[in-house]
Amino acid sequence: MKNDNSLKSWLTDLNLDHPLVIGGPCSAETEDQVLKIAHELKNSDVSAFRAGIWKPRTRPGNFEGVGAIGLKWLKKVKEQTGLLTATEVANANHCKLALDADIDILWIGARSTVSPFIVQEIADALKGTDKIVLIKNPVNPDLDLWLGGIERLYKSEIKKLGVIHRGFSTSGKSQYRNNPEWQIAIELQNKFPDLPIICDPSHICGRRDLIFDISQRALDLNFDGLMVESHNDPDNAWSDAKQQITPETLIQFMKDWKIRELTTTEENYQNDLKNLRAKIDVIDQSLLDLLRDRMQVAEDIGELKKSKNVAVLQNKRWNEILGKMILDGQERKLSEEFILRIFKAIHQESINHQQNIYKN
Ligand code: PEP
Ligand code: MN
Repeated sequence: MKNDNSLKSWLTDLNLDHPLVIGGPCSAETEDQVLKIAHELKNSDVSAFRAGIWKPRTRPGNFEGVGAIGLKWLKKVKEQTGLLTATEVANANHCKLALDADIDILWIGARSTVSPFIVQEIADALKGTDKIVLIKNPVNPDLDLWLGGIERLYKSEIKKLGVIHRGFSTSGKSQYRNNPEWQIAIELQNKFPDLPIICDPSHICGRRDLIFDISQRALDLNFDGLMVESHNDPDNAWSDAKQQITPETLIQFMKDWKIRELTTTEENYQNDLKNLRAKIDVIDQSLLDLLRDRMQVAEDIGELKKSKNVAVLQNKRWNEILGKMILDGQERKLSEEFILRIFKAIHQESINHQQNIYKN
């Protein structure tokens, strides 16, 4: 897929002076519930109303959505409030029904993005549509799978495309339901700067007390919008109760979020930024020099071990180093996660250098 600056035009055409906000419940439950929430959101910065009517649930037996009848309720939302409407589609039949019901925004859920067959089926069913189609990241942290999904839709001549970052499953411990792994979303943004990117803090957080901060983080990273689950009675929602907030809270959040400028031409700012970036460049060069020196010492150790026929990897010492580095890192306000990542990478590079010596 080429970079294509027409990708952003559907968003520009909305003519907003703030990020795009999509609000509404995880699931449409009843006609009353849907209309009540929509009316509470209509006179705010919310532009589009979301509600899932076909719900992909991890385990069977949970509420799986009201089905096609919900499309009628969404139609009423559009007629009564003027909000755009949005729902998840997960197969060709959903697409057909949603297009017939004139839904404005169709999104592909994380559990569908993992399956190239399903994404292709949806891309074929939506071929050439002028509706907005958003694709969530796959459940697993795999940028290629996400890109593959975008490419399938783009090849199907769907031009009003965008992506939704909703975090990724992880087997490690995390305070989030789905770990944000911001670097994956940033990499996608760098590859396709014109593709609108929306953050879904609700499915990242899984709990309502973290939603404000994660949304602010996304705005700080220049995301184009947010999709936030909101419900008139969050605690009694039929799905995702813990992560939903009231329309009132969402409206307050929209007032409190700080919207950053992409840049400014103000002279002081430009000078300060230039100086600070110059400092970063100098520090980065020093880091590279230090890493080079460290590898040189690792090679000397490799020579020594080889001369005595000792194994490259010394697990006991490595575990001791790592434990100490985590503590030393804490004193320097560096997180355990960061220390582990960086020292594991450095250690691996040292082993590679030493193994080369053993080969020679
Ligand atoms: C949803 O948006 O309600 C949903 C099911 O999300 P996800 O596909 O991100 O799990
Ligand atoms: Mn949900």
